[in-house]
Amino acid sequence: MDWRTHDVSNQIPEHSNYNLLASDVALTEALDRTAAWSSEQLTAFGGRLGREETFALADAANRNPPILNAFDARGHRIDSVEFHPAWHAVLGMYREEGLVSLPFREQRPGRWPAWAAGFYMHAQIEYGTLCPATMTQASIPLLQKEPALWEALREKLFSDRYDPSDVPIAKKSSIWLGMGITEKQGGSDVRANTTVAVPVGKGGRGGEYKLRGHKWFFSAPMCDAHLVVARAVDTDSYACFYVPRFRPDGSKNAVLVQRLKDKVGNRSNSSGEVEFQDAYGLLMGEEGRGIPTIIEMATYTRLNCVLGSAALLRQALVQALSYTRQRRAFGKKLIEHGLMRAVLVDLALESEAALALGMRLAEAFEQDADDRHLAWKRIMTPAAKFWVCKRSVELTGEAMEVLGGNGYVDQGIVARLFKEAPVNSIWEGSGNVMCLDVVRALSREARLVEALISDLTEMSDGCSILTEELSHLVKLIRLNPEMLEPSARILCQQLVLIAQGCLLHRYSTPEISDAFIRTRLDDRRSGRVAGAIDVTNVDVDAVLSRALAM
Ligand SMILES: Cc1cc2nc3c(=O)[nH]c(=O)nc-3n(C[C@H](O)[C@H](O)[C@H](O)COP(=O)(O)OP(=O)(O)OC[C@H]3O[C@@H](n4cnc5c(N)ncnc54)[C@H](O)[C@@H]3O)c2cc1C
Repeated sequence: MDWRTHDVSNQIPEHSNYNLLASDVALTEALDRTAAWSSEQLTAFGGRLGREETFALADAANRNPPILNAFDARGHRIDSVEFHPAWHAVLGMYREEGLVSLPFREQRPGRWPAWAAGFYMHAQIEYGTLCPATMTQASIPLLQKEPALWEALREKLFSDRYDPSDVPIAKKSSIWLGMGITEKQGGSDVRANTTVAVPVGKGGRGGEYKLRGHKWFFSAPMCDAHLVVARAVDTDSYACFYVPRFRPDGSKNAVLVQRLKDKVGNRSNSSGEVEFQDAYGLLMGEEGRGIPTIIEMATYTRLNCVLGSAALLRQALVQALSYTRQRRAFGKKLIEHGLMRAVLVDLALESEAALALGMRLAEAFEQDADDRHLAWKRIMTPAAKFWVCKRSVELTGEAMEVLGGNGYVDQGIVARLFKEAPVNSIWEGSGNVMCLDVVRALSREARLVEALISDLTEMSDGCSILTEELSHLVKLIRLNPEMLEPSARILCQQLVLIAQGCLLHRYSTPEISDAFIRTRLDDRRSGRVAGAIDVTNVDVDAVLSRALAM
C-alpha cells in the first residue's frame, strides 16, 4: 500500500545561483558611474557569492559559532578561538578578493565605491565575517599616522593572503585588527572607561604602557592586535593604545578572553569579554586625544554599518521577490496580488535608497578634501547609520512575513538576515548616539552645514516636494542646538529622506524617484508600516523588474 499522503508543491527554493551584481541594476549603474574599472572583477565576485555553495558556507558558519578554548588540555592559558572551516572559507574569500584594504591601497578614482560594492555584496551572503574585516580596514587611517607601527604593519594590512594562524605578527602574511572601547559600566559614554594604562618608560606617543582593566564587548578577540581605549595615568587623560596579541618577545600578551557572548545574530563572529592583566600596549595618536582618535576609526566603521544594513535589506528583498514571483495563493502568484505589490514596492524603494546613500557616502570618504564631500562624511554618515540600520531591522522582518511561515523557520536565509539586522543599529554607536552626533556636527560645523544645504539644494532642482521639504529642514537645523536634542530623531529622519530623495532624483529612474519622494515626503498617510503606501500612480512593474533582474 502506498502511504504517500501528498505531493510537495508550491514550495519555493531559496534564491541562489545568481550573480549579485548583474542582477542588481541600481548597483551596476552606480559602479558604471563611479568605478567602471572594477566591474569585471566584481561581477566575477558577485557570481561566486551567489552560488548555492557559498550560501551553504554562510549557513554553516552561523550554525557552528566559534568556541573559546581558554586553556589547553594541560591547563595552560591559550585564549584561543576555534572557528568552523566555513568561517575561514568565507572570510578568506573576502580577503583574497583584495577588499580589506582596497580603498587605502588602490590609487584609481572610484576606489571607495568599488570597495563599497564588494562589501555590499559580501554582506548579503555572510555578515559576521565583515566584523574583523571592517575593524581592520578602519584601523588603517589611524595606523598610517604612526610611522614606526605603519612601517611594521603596512605590508601585512595590505596583503590579500588569508592567514588565520595564531602566531606573532612577524610570522604572518596578513593580519586582522579589532577595537576595544566598551566596558561594563558604559559603552556610549566612553569617558566612563576605567581601564588604566601605566607608562613603562617615559610614556608618550609611541611609548610602552601596561594596561589593566577589562572590555565588556571585544569582538574578534583572535585578531592580531586591537586598538584599545584606556586612561593614561601619566597624563590623566584617555588615550588609544595598540595592543597586539603577542608581546615583542614572542610571548602571548596578557589579554585574557574570559567568555564569548551568546548573541541573537552575528553568530559566526566571535565577540568576547576580556581582561587586561598589565597587557603590553603602545600609545597611539596625540596624548590626551584618545577619544577623538578612536572616534575617527568609528567614522569608518559607521559607513560599513550603513552599507551592511543596506545589504541585509537588499538580500531580504531578493528572497522576497524570488519567492513571490513563484509562490501561488488564491489562484495567482503572490506578486500579482495588489496589496503584496504595495509591500514589495515599498521594500524595493527603501532598498535602492539605502544603496544610493551608502554609495554616495563611499564617494565622500574618497574625496574628503572638498567641503561638500566632507559634509556628507561628517554629517550624513551618523544620520545614515541611524536611519538605514533601523529600517533594515523593520524591513527584514517584513520580508520574513512575505515568505509566510517559511520565513520564520530558522533554517532560512531571511531568518538569519532578520536576526543579524539589529546589531548594526547598536554597535559603533547606537541610534540616539548617532542622532546626537548629527546635532553636534550641525551646531559646530557651520561651514559644512552650508555646503550640505547647498549640495542638496542643487540636487533637488526641478522637484517641488524636495525643495519644500528642504526649506522646512533648514529652518529646523537653524534652531538652537539645545532645542534640537529632543527632536533629533525627526531631524535625522528628514535629513536622510531628503538626501535619499535627492540622490534618486539625480541618479535613478523617474519611476523610482517619484514613488520614493511621494511616499516618503509628500503623502502624510504613508509609512507607519511597510506597504502602507498609495501605489495608484506608481509604475509597479517598472519598480519590481528593476529591483531584481532575472
Ligand atoms: C555583537 C556586538 C559586538 C560588539 N563589539 C564591540 C567591540 O568589538 N568593541 C567595542 O568596543 N564594543 C563592541 N560592542 C559594544 C557596542 O559598541 C556597545 O554595545 C554600544 O556602543 C552601546 O553601548 P552600551 O552597550 O554600553 O549601551 P549604553 O551606552 O548603556 O546605551 C544604552 C542605550 O542608551 C542610549 N543612550 C546612551 N546615551 C544616550 C544619551 N546621551 N541620550 C539618549 N540616549 C542615550 C543608547 O543609544 C542605547 O540605546 C559590541 C556590541 C555588540 C552587540
